[in-house]
Amino acid sequence: FGSGVDQISKPTDKLFGGLLAAGFDEDSCLSRYQSVLYQKTSPFKASPYLISKLRNYEQLHKRCGPNTQPYNAAVEQLRSGGSVSFSSTDCKYIVWVCYSGLGNRILTLASVFLYALLTDRVLLVDRGKDMANLFCEPFPEKSWFLPLNFPITNKFNSFGQKSPESYGNMLKKIIKASTESLPSYLYLHLAHDYDDHDKLFFCDEEQALLNKVPWLIMKTDNYFVPSLFLMSLFEHELIMLFPEKETIFHHLGRYLFHPTNQVWGLITRYYKAYLAKADERIGIQVRTFDSGPGPYQYVKDQISACTQGEKLLPAVDTKGTIVPPSENSKLKAVLMTSLVSGYFENVKNMYWEHPTVTGDIIGVHQPSHEEKQQTEKPLHNMKAWAEMYLLSLSDELVTSAWSTFGYVAQGLGGLKPWILYKSENQTTPNPPCQRAMSMEPCFHAPPFYDCKAKKGIDTGKVVPHVRHCEDISWGLKVV
Ligand code: GDP
Repeated sequence: FGSGVDQISKPTDKLFGGLLAAGFDEDSCLSRYQSVLYQKTSPFKASPYLISKLRNYEQLHKRCGPNTQPYNAAVEQLRSGGSVSFSSTDCKYIVWVCYSGLGNRILTLASVFLYALLTDRVLLVDRGKDMANLFCEPFPEKSWFLPLNFPITNKFNSFGQKSPESYGNMLKKIIKASTESLPSYLYLHLAHDYDDHDKLFFCDEEQALLNKVPWLIMKTDNYFVPSLFLMSLFEHELIMLFPEKETIFHHLGRYLFHPTNQVWGLITRYYKAYLAKADERIGIQVRTFDSGPGPYQYVKDQISACTQGEKLLPAVDTKGTIVPPSENSKLKAVLMTSLVSGYFENVKNMYWEHPTVTGDIIGVHQPSHEEKQQTEKPLHNMKAWAEMYLLSLSDELVTSAWSTFGYVAQGLGGLKPWILYKSENQTTPNPPCQRAMSMEPCFHAPPFYDCKAKKGIDTGKVVPHVRHCEDISWGLKVV
């Protein structure tokens, strides 16, 4: 270990001030208790109320989780189909369906877990192809994974905006009125293409009905937490749980997402080899949403303009007047992530070919360049997860607009990143980047509806702590 992991000798609080439960088998998930050696100590403390809520949730999960008697009874009810008359003492569930890219999945899983906490439901996770290879179990004793023999797993793929089982479509048929006879499950479609009926999920009155359904199955690619904040049903509880409002994903992310030992190997080997010895670590996440893969010159220019303009990295002396390295020159490690290698090559060569004006030495590193999103490859998402995590260990972070990959890194790291604006016409935006207002992720497709007044409103203007995002003008984020 180099100096950067001198954190090893700092007094360690491996349970993050009580955020994590004690008593797990340490070897089965090394990252759970070792992450404290790599992550900077968070300036944000989980509230005692959040901690007690999590301990209570863990009890609920243990009592109702997979293969318990209440679970088996609830599955039996689902298997037999038809309607249910629901007794409130039974366990209720919300199933997160594996959907979309890994950054999206991490954000939605945190959102669904928060919804489970707010509604006393048990979260069960559809493992998809690779979830179990990426994440350790977060709850003691009982798994968070949906058992493989769950009766309707084979329907998950076909669930979509048009599904008759969806809540939105059920509302259209006005079955709503009778609360005596409810289906044993409802599909909640909260993906980007959801419609006005699906969006009624965010209305207090509709929650009363959902509350009675034992199984909710949700597919989403959105971090929908900001809209929960706008519901009077949840607002008070959320403020108690998160007195520092912008820490929702930060705390829930550190609680839920522990890399498996294989991913932890990718993270720690990389960190020790390339990042640990540096005096300062700068993360730069480059994600473009242009039609071609790039690299694009306008993005290269944008990266330099942002990092130098914001003094995250020094300028170089291209005129050849060599600056003698000063006594206290620093070693700065730049960690770049991108699907392509062109941006990394550009930054690396710039700092190799020219001296910096400050005398600082800049090492530039990029763990992978996978060229395109290819979820079939077993190591692909492991690398993506390792890279999000490595970015979160930065002292300063630069992210790309619109990207959930970057949101995960900033949230886990407790960092307010500089966001590289999305270019409209393949030219470098001016200014090239902007410091984020908060470290919370952006909800890309929020509803614009006032449930009480039954009319459209600007939901970014209702309360001061839910605003439009820096990178998506119609998105919402908690600040
Ligand atoms: P978003 O599309 O930027 O919001 O992020 P997602 O994580 O949801 O989806 C993008 C997917 O593309 C990731 O899950 C990765 O599979 C892949 N990807 C994008 N950028 C990178 C990168 O910098 N490194 C790696 N390893 N994979 C990436």
